[in-house]
Amino acid sequence: MNAKDPALGQSPPCSAMGGEPFSCGPSTRRVSRAVKVAWGNQTVQIGGSAPVVVQSMTNTDTADAIGTAIQVQGLAQAGSELVRITVNSPDAAKEVASIREQLDRMNCSVPLIGDFHFNGHKLLSEYPDCAQALSKYRINPGNVGKGAKRDDQFGAMIEAACKFNKPVRIGVNWGSLDQELLARLMDDNSKRAQPWDAQAVMREALVTSAIDSAQQAEKWGLAGDRITLSAKVSSVQDLISVYRELARRCDYPLHLGLTEAGMGSKGIVASTAAMAVLLQEGIGDTIRVSLTPEPGGDRRLEVIVAQEMLQSMGMRAFAPMVVACPGCGRTTSTFFQELASKIQSYLRDQMRVWKTQYPGVENMTVAVMGCVVNGPGESKHADIGISLPGTGETPVAPVFIDGQRNVTLKGDHIAEEFQAIVSDYVKTRFGSTT
Ligand code: SF4
Repeated sequence: MNAKDPALGQSPPCSAMGGEPFSCGPSTRRVSRAVKVAWGNQTVQIGGSAPVVVQSMTNTDTADAIGTAIQVQGLAQAGSELVRITVNSPDAAKEVASIREQLDRMNCSVPLIGDFHFNGHKLLSEYPDCAQALSKYRINPGNVGKGAKRDDQFGAMIEAACKFNKPVRIGVNWGSLDQELLARLMDDNSKRAQPWDAQAVMREALVTSAIDSAQQAEKWGLAGDRITLSAKVSSVQDLISVYRELARRCDYPLHLGLTEAGMGSKGIVASTAAMAVLLQEGIGDTIRVSLTPEPGGDRRLEVIVAQEMLQSMGMRAFAPMVVACPGCGRTTSTFFQELASKIQSYLRDQMRVWKTQYPGVENMTVAVMGCVVNGPGESKHADIGISLPGTGETPVAPVFIDGQRNVTLKGDHIAEEFQAIVSDYVKTRFGSTT
């Protein structure tokens, strides 16, 4: 078991043999304001002492209310604690309240965040049902209007947030950075004795845009505990640098995410590389992994990656983790890969029921190992583990429970028998004793 205090994001120091203990676990969480996102009679908190919250975004046309509600439900069932939807047109805005109602009918309890660009001021004032049904608004200060219109349009969105009592995310993105602000900072930079390079000025513009916009919103009446910030870029090093600076200069909760992270392993690796560094430093109150799905791919992958990132770092637990070896020349059959994959899917699927029936099961670890070299050792470290026979080994599979060899499986039904043992173990260990 690997439980840690998610509120603090801290682990106790690891013990070492004499001398100072090894430092182990994330740094102390940055102190941030607590922002509450409400829907119905429920709330989810971002920042303050809350654990880091996982969020995601749909890629359906919001005007398709049923299609969007179904995808929101899928994301929520996968574990997304907030779901953002695009609100880009009157047709989309008209459907937001229906989407909320549909979700309520489906017993899908997740807050909806509206993503606004360019016309958010109009949509929020012309479609009050939409403004009311959303639990939070995302406002991009680079896309609220230019020149004299900027303040009016940004102000109208903040007015809506105040009127409907909604929090907002001031979400800056380097692809839509406020060009007037950037030009001004470039100008100031040229007057420096030693001008910064263009990338540094861009990073400064992102941070300034986010913080200045948040302070402006506060001046217009939005409470300080109604604001979260993000400043997304697509480069890992820029993201780390920008968020360190944001964290230093303000105490608004921070939404982490690498924008345009890309597809497949590239998107997963880049997002994790950037966010893990920040999370380890105690920076970040909510995360979204912006993966480009394969055509027809599963949108829920971004939720699973976000959860696994937090769980791998020991910051939260969502579902039992499967520890599996990579396999090598000592195990040439694919049986153990199939078993690891089956068990992983089984555990994740079961969590819909288990998370209410068996509290604490999400901290469980299950080992599936390919041969005798590391199999018994790794299986003993896990709550429950199986060491499969490698090539040339006796075709038996010892199962270890709580560090002790418990039973040895053999024959054609090892996978089914092991799954049944895991299921029994969960019931016995995590079931109610009352
Ligand atoms: S446990 Fe065995 S099969 Fe798995 S990687 Fe190690 S040596 Fe190879």
